[in-house]
Amino acid sequence: MSETEKADRGLVELNSEECKGCGLCVEACPPAVLRLAETLNQYGMHPAAYLGHGCTGCGICFFVCPEPGAITVLRAAARKLEEQAAEAAA
Ligand code: SF4
Ligand code: SF4
Repeated sequence: MSETEKADRGLVELNSEECKGCGLCVEACPPAVLRLAETLNQYGMHPAAYLGHGCTGCGICFFVCPEPGAITVLRAAARKLEEQAAEAAA
């Protein structure tokens, strides 16, 4: 696995039905891996969505989000993925 293909350090999970579509997390994410979806949720808002890779696990999106339960940042899971990647590369 090359340097550019290294495993993500974090994994973000977004609950679209808890999201109010304010966009704060999208603006705050340093690597810009969040966006507002084109679809609408139960509130008629465009919920935040993850691009699928590049999350560093910094947790900034979690701290700026005003909606409890809309964002979960997993770091331990990412470490497990890194360990699995390292084992696969060995
Ligand atoms: S944890 Fe950090 S890098 Fe990951 S989506 Fe949230 S703000 Fe972006
Ligand atoms: S900060 Fe929270 S409520 Fe606002 S768009 Fe992001 S996930 Fe949705």
